[in-house]
Amino acid sequence: MDEKLVDIYDEVLQRNPGEQEFHQAVQEVLNSLGPVVAKHPQYADAAVFRRLCEPERQIIFRVPWVDDEGQVQINRGFRVEFNSALGPYKGGLRFHPSVYLGIVKFLGFEQIFKNSLTGMPIGGGKGGSDFDPKGRSDGEVMRFCQSFMTELYRHIGEYTDVPAGDIGVGGREIGYLFGQYKRITNRYESGVLTGKGLSWGGSQVRTEATGYGTVFFVEEILRDRKDSLDGKRVVVSGSGNVAVYAIQKVQQLGGTVVACSDSSGYVVDEAGIDLALLRDVKEVRRARISAYAEERPDARLVEGGSVWDVPCDIALPCATQNELNGKDAATLARNGCTIVAEGANMPCTPEAVDVLAEAGVTFAPGKAVNAGGVATSALEMQQNASRDSWTFQHTEDRLAEIMRGIHERCLTTADEYGSPGDYSAGANISGFIRVADAMLALGVV
Ligand code: GLU
Repeated sequence: MDEKLVDIYDEVLQRNPGEQEFHQAVQEVLNSLGPVVAKHPQYADAAVFRRLCEPERQIIFRVPWVDDEGQVQINRGFRVEFNSALGPYKGGLRFHPSVYLGIVKFLGFEQIFKNSLTGMPIGGGKGGSDFDPKGRSDGEVMRFCQSFMTELYRHIGEYTDVPAGDIGVGGREIGYLFGQYKRITNRYESGVLTGKGLSWGGSQVRTEATGYGTVFFVEEILRDRKDSLDGKRVVVSGSGNVAVYAIQKVQQLGGTVVACSDSSGYVVDEAGIDLALLRDVKEVRRARISAYAEERPDARLVEGGSVWDVPCDIALPCATQNELNGKDAATLARNGCTIVAEGANMPCTPEAVDVLAEAGVTFAPGKAVNAGGVATSALEMQQNASRDSWTFQHTEDRLAEIMRGIHERCLTTADEYGSPGDYSAGANISGFIRVADAMLALGVV
């Protein structure tokens, strides 16, 4: 890390004790920015690096609600409004028991560069709660969402901060959140949330966008090698929204997804994952992945263990942070995997990234690969602002074009700053420069 940036990183460690994921995300970005410090002294002179590491605003609040047994439950809610130089804060809400300030800050920090990289007018933010929707009834989820929004509504707005989904927050939760926002404010302000249902202001392709975008990015990597997804063996981790639509797009483009997972284990299905069955198990029944194996006689269930033990050409980690470690990376490389592209946010540990680089495996970071989700949220905002709704085809074409643009920007920037082919350097530097220039233009604010 550049000497000037080491001091900034030390300050981040000191000011944010115990927030390991946030430290990891900051370190990863600062590691790439050495060549920028040397080439553009104006950023350090205006303390842009230091300002970027401090969120503009952090909100932490109590979320009380009553469960089906009549017991009062208390959760903690968060919204970290990290940077608004490029547009209103934009980023999802995560409902998962692991959520604490350090996770929200890591996600919010990543979001700044990801959103910048899309080329769209959106700042970076993230929020969520330690609420665990698993095993909760619809009524409980609704009461939780209503209580969460009863505090959050005063901090958000179509020109201020525009939340969306993430782990544990999908169409159902966005519906309850939007309903409560509308009720409290007496405004049908469609642009305040994205990921809405199609009949009430949502965009075509938003549900599919993160998974589809991930695969479009991989297609670009392959196109550069004069290759394609046709006939490729792919392993996807997770079985949530990102994984499901990554699997669908790989299948549409001629690849075979032979394994996917959830927190209880993974399934290997050499004939290719049966997507209709997977969706029924995960989305309708909200059951464990073992239910998939029970209904597919040729599929094999492995409880515990690592899905990365399954040999593949392409690995798409689409579950959660730090799910693919150094040992997994070594196994993938040994088994002949040539591309690891992150559908989730920061799923590869720093050690995994080093092992992949050492082994010559192409690594593409989440802030570039999974940016299709938030980019399509920005398309949803455009449609809301013009009270329009586009067709599926038109929206998917826009998404594909955005992903091609991100891929191109990563490679051109990596070249320009002396790390040809390094997608992480390209994504971090390109994302940084767009935000940094806006911050310079807006003065010390
Ligand atoms: N949670 C998604 C992400 O990690 C989407 C955020 C959004 O659409 O605002 O980028």
